[in-house]
Amino acid sequence: HSLMLRAGYIRRCASGVYTYLPLALRTIRKIEAIVREEMARAGAAELLMPIALPAELWKETGRWEVYGKELLRFVDRHNRDFCLGPTHEEVITDLARKELTSWRQLPKTLYQIQTKFRDEIRPRFGLMRGREFIMKDAYSFDLTQAASLETYRRFYDAYVRIFTRCGLNFRAVEATTGAIGGSYSHEFQVLADAGEDLILACSACDYAANIERAELSDGRMPTETQRASEGDACPRCKKGVYQSFRGIEVGQVFYLGTKYSTSLNAAYTDESGNSQLMEMGCYGIGVSRTAAAAIEQHHDEKGIKWPLAIAPYAVVVLPLQWASADVREAAERLYGQLAQASVDVLLDDRDDRAGVKFNDADLIGIPWQLIVGSKGLAAGKVEIKERASGARHELSLDEAVAFLVEGIARQKATV
Ligand code: ATP
Ligand code: MG
Repeated sequence: HSLMLRAGYIRRCASGVYTYLPLALRTIRKIEAIVREEMARAGAAELLMPIALPAELWKETGRWEVYGKELLRFVDRHNRDFCLGPTHEEVITDLARKELTSWRQLPKTLYQIQTKFRDEIRPRFGLMRGREFIMKDAYSFDLTQAASLETYRRFYDAYVRIFTRCGLNFRAVEATTGAIGGSYSHEFQVLADAGEDLILACSACDYAANIERAELSDGRMPTETQRASEGDACPRCKKGVYQSFRGIEVGQVFYLGTKYSTSLNAAYTDESGNSQLMEMGCYGIGVSRTAAAAIEQHHDEKGIKWPLAIAPYAVVVLPLQWASADVREAAERLYGQLAQASVDVLLDDRDDRAGVKFNDADLIGIPWQLIVGSKGLAAGKVEIKERASGARHELSLDEAVAFLVEGIARQKATV
């Protein structure tokens, strides 16, 4: 959070409410693009639901009472109750019950990427736990439980691809279902010491769970006061013991069964003309939190070290003497050539000292710095610095462009 403030990514407007400055927005758009590609691959179609939601739907499911103070409520000029959407099971299930009435129209999976509002009791660490934040939420409607569990698996796999492509070190863990409900769930946790969640993972098998839910060795689920903990025997394989990790929850998938189709009576007519409840799942990703979690995992004392896939720019060109016409022209030419080759490139055209440019480039975390200085230029050379490793390469101007274009293509091909 402090790096995002220092590097000019976000500014606070109110507690838990932030403006995304241009660099942050570019990263968010890149995360969204990855999410959209993988949602399409998983067979989901994008829609956009409202942010202001009528209380009636929430009263039908009982969540108007259950959701508590996190639901920001207000009254319109006609004295009707509304809330700002923290999640959209009610709205999407209302849509499904009106539109998806025959078995022929199922299965369907729909998603949106939208600003959510939750009046969190303790908003903190900026985008990590905001009150207003960007979420991708998907909802699936299937004919049978077996089909719904297959859809669940497909989204689980899509989430593995999304967070891998974002360049994150993460783990999928079994989870409790909280205010969303349902019977079966996994969280995707980015491993980071600053994470709020505690995860237990078996030393011998691949069982991992949020500590809120990790099984005890006698097979019982733990209560508030009696949680499984580090060193306890793992009940799944009976060979290993629990090790603990800290994590940031960037996504969660839920098998809902008929929880919402029952309360909202979302039924379809099956082949024999009988009415059947739809089988549902829901799948969330904290898009803005993912950006913050990526920084938590990729930074050093100088600043951010973005994974290429979600960096606001791939390359920043640093002309060290803006007053020199030679340096300026070379920098502008390199910038133009890279842009022409579809590289996301930024030009530091400030008339500032070299030291300021170096520090700011390290701080904002662009993966490649292309350094153009008068001394090197006299010998026909520029320098490339890789932000993550610190590796440096001295190259001619043409070689530098080819090096960056190929390097970016190669990294993109490996994810
Ligand atoms: P948490 O336990 O962190 O409060 P949650 O389990 O209530 O989150 P979900 O309902 O699972 O959240 O929402 C889907 C995703 O939205 C989460 O996995 C998380 O990445 C993101 N998210 C939830 N609350 C916030 C928040 N206050 N700020 C930023 N992102 C959030
Ligand atoms: Mg969750």
